Amino acid sequence: MKPTIDEMPSPHDWRPRRFMVIVAHPDDADFGPAGTAAAWIEAGAEGWLVCCTSGDAGGEDPEANPFELAQAREDEQRLAAQVVGYRGVSFLHQPDGNLVDDLSLREMLVREIRTFKPDAVFAGDPEVVIHDGGGINHTDHRAAAMAALDAVYPAARNPMVFPWLTRQGLPAHRVRRLYLMWSNKPDVWIDVTAAADRKIEALRAHSSQLHDPEAVFGRVRARLVDQGARIGTAAAEAYRLVVLDPDPVESAGAEESADVEETISAEEPPKR
Ligand SMILES: [Zn+2]
Repeated sequence: MKPTIDEMPSPHDWRPRRFMVIVAHPDDADFGPAGTAAAWIEAGAEGWLVCCTSGDAGGEDPEANPFELAQAREDEQRLAAQVVGYRGVSFLHQPDGNLVDDLSLREMLVREIRTFKPDAVFAGDPEVVIHDGGGINHTDHRAAAMAALDAVYPAARNPMVFPWLTRQGLPAHRVRRLYLMWSNKPDVWIDVTAAADRKIEALRAHSSQLHDPEAVFGRVRARLVDQGARIGTAAAEAYRLVVLDPDPVESAGAEESADVEETISAEEPPKR
């Protein structure tokens, strides 16, 4: 049974065994769900980060070498990923500033999902074009968000979508939950009090993007505090939650075995 918002605990305390973060740029994940990722990893979950671009347009100098910038930003993101505790990072090497939500990107994301087999995926909210409070949601953020959702559902779970992946040993995989960051419609708040410092340390790794680091960190901490106030904690991150499938066994939650999950999933008709 899909839980309603009223049934969700506050602070939100569901936790996956495995999760994936799908973002457009190096640093998005650290401005985004790094606190939750670090908290979940600390509690025993395994995380994987996917960056669709390598941030090769993340500067102001038209004479700069974009390949050198991309290499620097991948190095920064790998360092930040170590701070958060991810198992690994995938770079899809799509063009920064010109990311397109097309079948090629969807297939790359499906390959990532079917390889790591996450229970939950973090992505942007593709419905956000203008942020509440002002500002345009970057075109790459919108493209990555829509591509991530379309990869999660239905492509990754349908064995007849990209069937060559199945034949290459990557069978269909059902992601049960999406956590959408930077949403205008957040409905869950996750306590990241114990992980707030690690989020800041992860952000510190992105030195090519930080012209006034302490000012940036101050704004990030203020945001964490504001969100924490919604659930009575010192710091929190907010998400719009999309539950696609119930957990395998209601009482066992994230600790159930993969065998049980596959059995139950196979009994459910595909949702169209
Ligand atoms: Zn970005």
